[in-house]
Amino acid sequence: LMQIYRPLNFIGFVYRELRQGLTDIEEMFKLLDQDPEVIDKPTAKPLAITGPVIRFDNVTFHYDPDRPILKGVSFEVPAGKTVAIVGPTGAGKSTISRLLYRFYDVTGGAITIDGQDLRDITQASLRSAIGMVPQDTVLFNDTIGYNIEYGRPGASTEEVREAARMAQVGAFIETLPKAYDTPVGERGLKLSGGEKQRVAIARTILKAPAILILDEATSALDTKTERDIQSALDLVSANRTTVVIAHRLSTVINADEILVLREGQVAERGTHAQLLAQDGLYAQMWNRQREATEAEEQLRRTTEDP
Ligand code: ATP
Repeated sequence: LMQIYRPLNFIGFVYRELRQGLTDIEEMFKLLDQDPEVIDKPTAKPLAITGPVIRFDNVTFHYDPDRPILKGVSFEVPAGKTVAIVGPTGAGKSTISRLLYRFYDVTGGAITIDGQDLRDITQASLRSAIGMVPQDTVLFNDTIGYNIEYGRPGASTEEVREAARMAQVGAFIETLPKAYDTPVGERGLKLSGGEKQRVAIARTILKAPAILILDEATSALDTKTERDIQSALDLVSANRTTVVIAHRLSTVINADEILVLREGQVAERGTHAQLLAQDGLYAQMWNRQREATEAEEQLRRTTEDP
């Protein structure tokens, strides 16, 4: 029996350790994708931010040498501006956010922030400068207040509440019987995808990073939730260098530049109006999404008023 018990006990221990340590997707990535190639150079310096201006310079990347994913991607995000990346599924959009966070190193070309190659700076300084709102936020098995405060440990109760309000999740939290002391996560209150994303946004508002990466969830949200999340995101990305990986085109209308990625290359670029005028891939995607939304609303109207 001991032979079975010991490994089980060990697994239990590892699980508890992991659960404690698993703070969010950033931590999870570290565990899942421990890539020995992404290590600080002995000469690595902390990132010095002036802009920050992000540049992708002819970036190529593959996970597997037989399958190139990015094939020479160049773009710049000027200080305080927002660039949105859209494109068909599998085009390489989320890969761009992973490279910017340096979960992986580029296989060709370079990514720089204020002229400093990501490979020459310390990972700790890079990650403290970036706020990442991932597709799926992993919550601690702790209170909802703790989950927000994690963005800046030591933040005051008032700061946590203010961040929650800005992220459009404060009113919801106040309806809970234990408010900010409500346990969440696997053994607590289960939050919907939209609520979890707003908790992640509140965390990021507290962190107040110089650079923001938003990797939008693919899951469908109802119109009100979508609008709430959008206004929270507009607040957090204002005057902050932002990269948005967008699945819903409604999110990108106000971006300073939109890149349409297709099979690892930038196929089109411009503002929403310029891209519609080009009548290319973006215009097709836009029309298709609008038709889908209209069909959905039509369906809702018929089910509501038989
Ligand atoms: P979606 O809109 O569906 O999220 P995307 O444009 O964000 O797609 P990526 O997640 O960047 O696409 O993935 C691009 C390609 O890289 C996909 O074909 C995917 O299967 C592959 N890929 C992603 N992650 C890995 C990985 N860790 N190992 C191997 N291949 C991967």
